[in-house]
Amino acid sequence: MKQFVTYYVYDHLQDLGKTISKKTYWETHMKRRLAMKGLLTIAAYPLIELKLPDHAIASPANLAAVTPLNKPYETWRAIVSPEAFQVLFEEKTELPGSSPLNGEHRAGTFICAACFLPLFDSSHKYESGTGWPSFTQPIAEHTATKLDYKMIIPRIEYHCARCGGHQGHVFKDGPLPRKERWCNNGIALKFILLEQDLPTLRG
Ligand SMILES: [Zn+2]
Repeated sequence: MKQFVTYYVYDHLQDLGKTISKKTYWETHMKRRLAMKGLLTIAAYPLIELKLPDHAIASPANLAAVTPLNKPYETWRAIVSPEAFQVLFEEKTELPGSSPLNGEHRAGTFICAACFLPLFDSSHKYESGTGWPSFTQPIAEHTATKLDYKMIIPRIEYHCARCGGHQGHVFKDGPLPRKERWCNNGIALKFILLEQDLPTLRG
């Protein structure tokens, strides 16, 4: 397939998911989400003092606090679909073009299908032509990477930093300025519209 012949192998693999500052996520994502919530609240209740629900209020400090669950992978089998379990916890890859999220272009957040940790903002999604949902960068510190030797050429595999669920691979053939392509299995994600509340993290 096309992407298999266009891979680049990084010299600095391990910390790729940690190179994005927390401030960047705060400024580009949560402010936008909170601003949208504020606008909707104002529109619905013009005479009522604006007060966001507590769960909608995030800060750079609590966004950074991703504590690994250390939950045995097998326990997720009863929680997610069999197909999602295969990708998330048995490191299978879904067929290209099979995910409805390929065509998802609305504003919102892509969260881990297992534990619901936000992993990608829609503003970083782009059409890579590979048949898998692709992003130019993840939410800072919400993914962790490791080398995958299943193919002849080593690839960088990334996981949800909280539950350890396998999400996809990252390559150095994405668009400028970062040149990164975070190639994700759609079944390992759920999409939450910007105007909807993010679900409570699942344990
Ligand atoms: Zn997760």
